[in-house]
Amino acid sequence: CGIVGVIGNNKTTDILLNGLKKLEYRGYDSAGIYVNDQNGKDFLVKEVGKISKLENAVGPDVQGLVGIGHTRWATHGKPTIENAHPHFSEDNRFYLVHNGVLTNFEELKTKYLADVDFKSQTDTEVAVQLVDHFAKEGLDGEAAFRKALSLIEGSYAFAMIDKEQPDRIFVAKNKSPLLIGLGDGFNVICSDAMAMLDQTHQFVEIHDGEVVILEKDSVNISKIDGTKVTRDPYTVNLDA
Ligand code: GLU
Repeated sequence: CGIVGVIGNNKTTDILLNGLKKLEYRGYDSAGIYVNDQNGKDFLVKEVGKISKLENAVGPDVQGLVGIGHTRWATHGKPTIENAHPHFSEDNRFYLVHNGVLTNFEELKTKYLADVDFKSQTDTEVAVQLVDHFAKEGLDGEAAFRKALSLIEGSYAFAMIDKEQPDRIFVAKNKSPLLIGLGDGFNVICSDAMAMLDQTHQFVEIHDGEVVILEKDSVNISKIDGTKVTRDPYTVNLDA
């Protein structure tokens, strides 16, 4: 029901958990984070229930330079740890959070993913397994993400990390809210600016059908087909 992400900040875990707490008002039944230290070490923590429960499950060793987080409002599959996000591909390469509802996930599953051993009952897992499917066919992470997006129908805000390229977060949006926030030497992602106002007041809007390749010092926006998009940031001023 809400997503957050951060890249290029050594307080990744704190920023994700703090952001998820700020999104609590949107309602949720479970939550999770994925954190990667960009040096071969990564962590996935999920819990059913309150963010404080997730916070307690996150040990002091869970530290990194890039991460994504999610609060879930179950639409497909019960509120369980397996169904909580982030979801990951069979080979533990891609990690993805999703806010929204995919309408053609059953067709995609039948057509492309008949041999995949699914770990959850969610529509979301189809998206991450589909990216992995195209990567296994030889596409790089970005091309596999774009190929999957060209086939997926429904509403989504996606944030995805490819373990083979942990210097970026892949982001896409269609009919679910999503913003990029610009930090000093780092960047963030959120469903609502509220989640990241402790980090920045500078945000960039993302429109439906757009993809963002987010690095710690750059925001590359394009259409799913790769056409470049330029957009200026705006300032969210609380006391304006
Ligand atoms: N449809 C997804 C699920 O049921 C995402 C729901 C959400 O936006 O939280 O897991």
